[in-house]
Amino acid sequence: MEKRDLLYTGKAKSVYTTDDADHVVILYRNDTSAFDGKRIEQLERKGMVNNKFNAFIMDKLGAAGIPVHHEKLLSDTESLVKKLTMIPVECVVRNFAAGSLVRRLGVEEGRELNPPTFELFLKNDALGDPMVNEYHVRSFGWATDAQLARMKELSFKVNDVLKQLFDAGNMLLVDFKLEFGLFHGEIVLGDEFSPDGCRLWDKDTRNKLDKDRFRQGLGGVVEAYEEVSHRLGVKLD
Ligand code: ADP
Ligand code: UDP
Repeated sequence: MEKRDLLYTGKAKSVYTTDDADHVVILYRNDTSAFDGKRIEQLERKGMVNNKFNAFIMDKLGAAGIPVHHEKLLSDTESLVKKLTMIPVECVVRNFAAGSLVRRLGVEEGRELNPPTFELFLKNDALGDPMVNEYHVRSFGWATDAQLARMKELSFKVNDVLKQLFDAGNMLLVDFKLEFGLFHGEIVLGDEFSPDGCRLWDKDTRNKLDKDRFRQGLGGVVEAYEEVSHRLGVKLD
């Protein structure tokens, strides 16, 4: 497999074609963005940590029967993945209230959501990733009903697997965002699962161990990601 041309530069990752039309290489950069890309900083080691963290999580999800795009780690900051036609909708599952849910509904941060919620956001930075519902997804043709049902089913399955995994590391999986795409007609989990796209709190202290440390200027961002990796047994070097 040979890495070829730059296909797309996102806020935190770059995607490259390969000599195989069914695969792309994802390069994890140190860029860290918040507020729909309005704030961007470089955080030393973050690309490496997220690349290895994501590979570890994707392997766990794959072993639990969830179709994932991840194939293998290529280097500290690069992974080989299946090339998906991405669905432009972000799927968010929440076990506890935080972030935009707190701002939108005025509920207290940390309130347990039982059963967990499922929300959809249009992937569009210029519009600030607005919340959408299943009718918008259908009317605008972003996904079919069957594809959306599969994305929802897989999102809750990911939640079941990862809630247990993080619990074993004495952490609460507060919420997370997933992106799916199509590979030869099948819905497959794409993008990344890392502390950049989820909320993780220490179970005892409720200390934040995720990107909220960056959003809220708490410092120790990559150190927290490394702590999470250590607790799960992710090998970083
Ligand atoms: P953003 O686009 O949100 O700034 P990133 O910096 O994370 O995001 O860039 C990664 C881009 O690659 C995203 O647009 C994501 O949808 C896309 N992507 C993720 N996984 C795949 C895949 N398997 N095949 C093709 N594109 C992918
Ligand atoms: N999220 C993400 N990318 C986005 C928006 C949200 O990864 O563009 C993640 C975020 O890290 C959190 C979850 O999705 O784990 C829910 O985010 P929320 O809607 O609370 O938005 P935020 O507080 O980030 O504005």
